[in-house]
Amino acid sequence: MLRDKFGREIHDLRISVTDRCNFSCVYCKSADPKNYFPHRDLLTWEEFLRLSRVLAGLGIRKIRVTGGEPLLREGVVDFIARLRQIDGLEDVALTTNGYLLPEMARELARAGAPRVTVSLDSTNPEKFARITRTPRSYEKVMAGIDAALEAGLRPVKVNIVLVRGFNDDEIVEFACLARRRDIVVRFIEFMPLDADHAWKRELVVTAKEIVDAIHPVFPLEEIPRHSASETALRYRFADGQGEVGIVAPVSIPFCGQCSRLRVTADGKLRTCLFSLREHDVRPLVRNGATDGDLAAFMKEAVSQKERSHRINEPDFVQPSRTMVYIGG
Ligand code: SAM
Ligand code: SF4
Repeated sequence: MLRDKFGREIHDLRISVTDRCNFSCVYCKSADPKNYFPHRDLLTWEEFLRLSRVLAGLGIRKIRVTGGEPLLREGVVDFIARLRQIDGLEDVALTTNGYLLPEMARELARAGAPRVTVSLDSTNPEKFARITRTPRSYEKVMAGIDAALEAGLRPVKVNIVLVRGFNDDEIVEFACLARRRDIVVRFIEFMPLDADHAWKRELVVTAKEIVDAIHPVFPLEEIPRHSASETALRYRFADGQGEVGIVAPVSIPFCGQCSRLRVTADGKLRTCLFSLREHDVRPLVRNGATDGDLAAFMKEAVSQKERSHRINEPDFVQPSRTMVYIGG
């Protein structure tokens, strides 16, 4: 099994299947053209599947497919279908910016209907275009959410990264969305993983501020956690009409319960979003390592998982990889 030296069991894997993205969100990807990894450096679908099988054998129960923008990589739907067939995996989920969902939601439903999370940071089309630095992104993403619901994908979650002065005036508007539509809304605190290095503590809209904004308008009741490693604080509306979640890694860190491991598109294991050190599994995969060798390597990497993200420490160092290259 995968267990780190602090006794945490690892059963969630996030696979970033590509470093490419068609958006340039202000809190994530640089607007400057970046050099993408060469194709030969990206793990192939077969390589990702092999790692996934070995990791499922070591106790991974849930895989989230992310990126960059995962729906941009050809073959991703078939990949998801094949992940669904891995023995021991209980859950396959997808995080997407939603831009391609109008064309792909039905195929995804046929591929085993992964749980889908779509990022949508404003209910105002012009503002959303400024956040994503992509024209007409709002219309496409809203159509994507509709397509996911029509294709029967459930639950559909919407992630909102709040940045003070940008979209914190829309908290109640998002709560209304959660009440109006069959959508689970989750607010995410802004983390120092942006390419522009603009993150400042003052820009973080905390969990408390979010609850304080919604509660007087729509009273909230906290929902007890299902499992210790659940990252979102969940609240239902007291009148029973929907729920919202808050992921608060900055103001209420959950590192003590972290159960995650990440694989980047270029085959690096990351034991924390904020890891300064990576474990390069690609040379093993490509140079004849057995499944046993891979398992031993991954167990050793996990044993070195960081105690905490250290965002709140005075000597915190932002990792050189930004979110688009890690996979959120
Ligand atoms: N492109 C897809 C998307 O946007 O959903 C998947 C990859 S994206 C990196 C995964 C999640 O990370 C998104 O929900 C995004 O909002 C979130 N994210 C990106 N940068 C972040 C940051 N600096 N702080 C907090 N969340 C961030
Ligand atoms: Fe792309 Fe997602 Fe990052 Fe936005 S948050 S730039 S959509 S990877």
